[in-house]
Amino acid sequence: MTGTFSLHPSIDGGIQAGSSSFTGGTLACRCAKDPVRVRVDSQSAHNHACGCTKCWKPKGALFSLVAVVPRDKLKVTEHAEKLAVVDPKATIQRHACSQCGVHMYGRIENSGHPLYGLDFIHTELSTEPGWSEPKFAAFVSSIIESGTDPQMMGAVRARLKELGLEPYDCLSPDLMDAIATHTAKASGVLKR
Ligand SMILES: [Zn+2]
Ligand SMILES: [Zn+2]
Repeated sequence: MTGTFSLHPSIDGGIQAGSSSFTGGTLACRCAKDPVRVRVDSQSAHNHACGCTKCWKPKGALFSLVAVVPRDKLKVTEHAEKLAVVDPKATIQRHACSQCGVHMYGRIENSGHPLYGLDFIHTELSTEPGWSEPKFAAFVSSIIESGTDPQMMGAVRARLKELGLEPYDCLSPDLMDAIATHTAKASGVLKR
């Protein structure tokens, strides 16, 4: 925390490493009464800070923290009736609590999409320690689209680097390569 901005409350004070033996937990929305609960029977992967305008982030945070888990390992266990899709036309269908607004999970329904089969979650919604820690920052420039002063970007990128989160303006090179490889195989340009 620099005193002038918060990247995200879970990382402002430093990053807690995940546990290699962690096998999942339960996410709960922020409703005091009858919270939506989502059971995840898997460690998370590709956890990162995301600056896009679509991911849910806590009030005052510049970034969301978002990770993926296999969709077959995720199950809504309580108060599914409170969930609604934020934008049905979006690639990622973000299922949010209609009362408190927290996004419980995001799902890609297009089976041809490179990231099909993975659900997006915010591990901060679970009280269990051990979830994989964020490793990079994606869509950093997009925080300007949410109203961040462009003059702050130098300080924001410096703070991300200080925390060990390499700032990218799309996804990380690993993920961008995986997506491009999927696309090249689907089009036949890449044979194997
Ligand atoms: Zn709620
Ligand atoms: Zn995002």
